[in-house]
Amino acid sequence: MSEVEKLKEEIVKYARLIAENKLVIGTSGNISARVNEGIAITPTSVDYSLMEPDDVLALDMDGEVVSGERNPSIEKMMHLGIYRKREDVKAVIHTHSKYASAVAALEISIPPILDEMVNYLGGEIKTAKYSMPGSSELAENVVGALEDRNGVLLSHHGALACGKDLKTAFENSLRIERISEIYVIAHIVGKPGSLPEEAIELERDIFEILKSR
Ligand SMILES: [Zn+2]
Repeated sequence: MSEVEKLKEEIVKYARLIAENKLVIGTSGNISARVNEGIAITPTSVDYSLMEPDDVLALDMDGEVVSGERNPSIEKMMHLGIYRKREDVKAVIHTHSKYASAVAALEISIPPILDEMVNYLGGEIKTAKYSMPGSSELAENVVGALEDRNGVLLSHHGALACGKDLKTAFENSLRIERISEIYVIAHIVGKPGSLPEEAIELERDIFEILKSR
């Protein structure tokens, strides 16, 4: 089995997992991974429970279809924009999870309130400025807000996680949802404080090591 074929199978596995974990419903959200000189990405409008590896497309870095019969995800520019900017990123998962979307609807960012945010995501989770789904402006806003971290929220839309492989990107998707839920709960009870600056600095070093190893 070629590297592309293996990756297409893996993408389908995680596509089912994001649906099973209620990070998306139906055909919303999308998943990609870097392969050869381009990426493999989920198709648009195919239910995750019915998706097969052959439905996943291979694209070059300009977004042109290399293999696959379906239409690629409408958010392909957002995925490609991240791979172009971030050499360390090998997988990207975009979801519409509940608590992350709630925070995104408030147009606020989540400051680093928990150790795991810095260790795994690189610190605060910023919320990218709104633009229409599928637009190149949304791609630009997301790449700009993500910077060198592994998680970002999309105003009035959802969340995006990335990482050194699909497993890491998936775990980061779950983390973003969990952290968003904790942030909402903390706000119900009171006002969350901040992590000490020296903890953030140390954990940023751990993040840098974990990022590509
Ligand atoms: Zn979306």
